[in-house]
Amino acid sequence: MIAPQATETKHWSFHTDLEKIGWLTINTPDASVNTLSREAIMELETLVSRFEDLASSGELVGVVILSGKSSGFIAGADVSEFDAMSDFSVLPEALRRTHALFARIEALKVPVVAGIHGFCLGGGLELALACHYRIAVNDEKTRIGFPEVNLGIFPGFGGTGRAIRQAGPVDAMQIMLTGKMLRAGAARGLNLVDKLVRHRDMLRWEARKAVLTKKTSSEAPAIKKAAALPLVREALANQMRKQVGKKARKDHYPAPYALIDLFEQHGNDWRAMIRGEVDRFVPLMGSSTATNLRRVFFLSEGLKKQGIKGAKFSRVHVIGAGVMGGDIAAWCAYRGMSVTLQDLDMERIKPALDRAKTLFQKRYKKKREVEAAMSRLVADPQGTGVSRADVIIEAVVEKLEVKQAIFSGIEGKMKPGAIMATNTSSIELERIAEALKDPARLIGLHFFNPVAQLPLVEVIRSRFNTDEEIGKGASFALAIGKSPVVVKSAPGFLVNRVLMPYMLGAVERVEKGESKELLDAAAVAFGMPMGPIELMDTVGLDVGKSVATELGHSVPGESRFARLISEGKLGRKTGEGFYKWEKGKAIKAETPPHADLAGLGRELVKPLVDMTEVVVGEGVVASSELADIGVIMGTGFAPFLGGPMKARADGRA
Ligand code: NAD
Repeated sequence: MIAPQATETKHWSFHTDLEKIGWLTINTPDASVNTLSREAIMELETLVSRFEDLASSGELVGVVILSGKSSGFIAGADVSEFDAMSDFSVLPEALRRTHALFARIEALKVPVVAGIHGFCLGGGLELALACHYRIAVNDEKTRIGFPEVNLGIFPGFGGTGRAIRQAGPVDAMQIMLTGKMLRAGAARGLNLVDKLVRHRDMLRWEARKAVLTKKTSSEAPAIKKAAALPLVREALANQMRKQVGKKARKDHYPAPYALIDLFEQHGNDWRAMIRGEVDRFVPLMGSSTATNLRRVFFLSEGLKKQGIKGAKFSRVHVIGAGVMGGDIAAWCAYRGMSVTLQDLDMERIKPALDRAKTLFQKRYKKKREVEAAMSRLVADPQGTGVSRADVIIEAVVEKLEVKQAIFSGIEGKMKPGAIMATNTSSIELERIAEALKDPARLIGLHFFNPVAQLPLVEVIRSRFNTDEEIGKGASFALAIGKSPVVVKSAPGFLVNRVLMPYMLGAVERVEKGESKELLDAAAVAFGMPMGPIELMDTVGLDVGKSVATELGHSVPGESRFARLISEGKLGRKTGEGFYKWEKGKAIKAETPPHADLAGLGRELVKPLVDMTEVVVGEGVVASSELADIGVIMGTGFAPFLGGPMKARADGRA
């Protein structure tokens, strides 16, 4: 049957059915996710004019907004337009126009319902919040939130005010300040969503019911709103500044502070909050922080495009159940792989299984999910998993002969086409591969400790490898949710190579009597997540020393560094290194005053930046961009500076 009203635009399709319900579907062309580009917004303006006409002539009883993509509702505004949009002559007008459009949607005389599955983020959530009622699919994939702070901005399509209207000031500010993505149930709990359904195919039915019964969402209760009353609001704003201050400095990341200022000014009036968005938003968008964070965003998106099409992995065999092997195995099981874990005997595998259980319990809510993950992780002291594995990762002691013996032992037993990888930190791949009949098979998959927290995997390419093996390695890293950066097999690869001169430089200054607290505070003031001495303690002095030696740095026997190691004071893991550690925290003395902390930090970070230039010059990574994203992901190097190479190019490091 032909629908009475049907329209197709580039981004939207719209038709009304026999019940006069209008079905509006977004489907961004040539993209796997929907975004609210300028063009999509302009098309929506025309469509909303239609809705207004149809509603006033009684031809429309309501509108349901859905997504035509399996990935989700709308992932946000189109970040690729942000550079052009940063222009002061364009942005305020564009924001006001979108504000006006969303206000018209809200003012429609008929109910407008958003049906949400998958990602509903940023601008997508702002559009949903301008609807009268929101229904979301309560499954694993639904994610609702405002990730704008990660791009150096805050919600700019009216989301600040509408989030506060729905969730109340405390919760709304919390999600906007942290960029946290909520699951459907949590979003329902915060009143950002009004109704949950179990499956995507129930959205239409539930939305139809909501339209026909004219359902509308209710605002946050008065008790929640009370936190935005004068005086309370100021106190709350100050508290939020303190909280944010623990994570991000205002001079590095101004967006959360600008959002708090906006809240302090208008937080008790959601409409005023929306009107106030533009003036505070515009300077953020063109700031160097936002420009660099966008670059980091695109670089990390670029990493996801690596790998080879169609590569599938389901079975992983890990050899070595120590710190790294145990955690790599647990991570793979957590990400859905069937994993066999081998070590010399059961005794050595048991602690890894216990740690895995702790990880699963932390990450999964349901006992059933923990049990399922545990059943995917199987102790395998005999190594029977080798012949069935799609991926074999070796993480045994850092000894060439041991690694060579392992690989030559398994080469004939492996499935053809399976990945053969070592997690070595310092041994050249070519030397390990000498023991193989086909040296091209061996690649490096270099994970970082702690595996569950650090996103980077260096995919190490030896001179024997072809694009095929490396592509597979990158695909596997992506399949387990990590970010692969391809690095040539050269001592220290990328991350350890650039970290070492930075950490050892600081250690040397401490040896000469400078305050470790001061040096650490200076690096943080520059923009590092942690100072170099605290980092050395965290990595472990023994690990640091062995990497340093491998890279040709000397550690004098009479140094404090060497003495601490000989006394077994290896850092965080033993409760003492340069610092004493309690409950996972370094006990620090007061930082002595210094006139230019960030300047001192810059001085400390210089060897890291210098070495990144060397590594790029040597072709160890293919480009400055890859070096930047690799070093950011592997060391936490100041993302607001865009990475070491970008910071150097900008004269900021
Ligand atoms: P670890 O000492 O904690 O664990 C090594 C494990 O290998 C031990 O459980 C040991 O019993 C086992 N093993 C030794 N010989 C074996 C054999 N023939 N067959 C099976 N298992 C055997 O070491 P780790 O810190 O986990 O390091 C493992 C590898 O990962 C090393 O190559 C290291 O360079 C690399 N790495 C370590 C870190 C780190 O921070 N610790 C980071 C990245 C990479």
